Amino acid sequence: MSTQTSSAHGKTPRDLSATVVALTSLSGEGSTISGEISVVALSEGVESEDLRVKSPAHLDLTLRRDGGRFLAHGTVEATIHQPCSRCLAEFDTRLMMRFERFYMIGSDPDDVPGEHQMEEDLVYLEEGELSLKRLVAEEVILSVPMVPLCSEACAGLCAGCGADLNREQCGCADPEPTGPFAALANLKISS
Ligand SMILES: [Zn+2]
Ligand SMILES: [Zn+2]
Repeated sequence: MSTQTSSAHGKTPRDLSATVVALTSLSGEGSTISGEISVVALSEGVESEDLRVKSPAHLDLTLRRDGGRFLAHGTVEATIHQPCSRCLAEFDTRLMMRFERFYMIGSDPDDVPGEHQMEEDLVYLEEGELSLKRLVAEEVILSVPMVPLCSEACAGLCAGCGADLNREQCGCADPEPTGPFAALANLKISS
């Protein structure tokens, strides 16, 4: 029987919204940090017109020195709110991310000025200071669905009258499919 229990239950989670870890303070053994990034702090990093943060994000993070690099791995859980790309209804998505990334202190030799490359698994930190708020914001952005759907079966809006076809049947005749995706309408996709 395991004596380990989930950290956050039963007590107030630690607020990591303003936490910055100095990488040079880490040992090879590493350290584990668990807590939350507040809605306000996370919103600064991820919000756009179409995307809002719904609840504090939970972070479980293990950090350790790995040769000349620093390894960060763990999980992020967050809830975002965005409009469906078919019917425009707003809905919540619970995101669960498992991440692993390496950090180095210094400036990126391949850095293109003005371009922030988040996709890289190796991230350079000029001052060697890791902002947990930023780490979580980056993971959320990488996990946001490109084409958010309230449901795989969402019927979307009628192209003729704009009626929400999930809720009502409108009087429009089936329009002839046109445009670059017309051929796709005839494909049956099984999942
Ligand atoms: Zn929808
Ligand atoms: Zn219609």
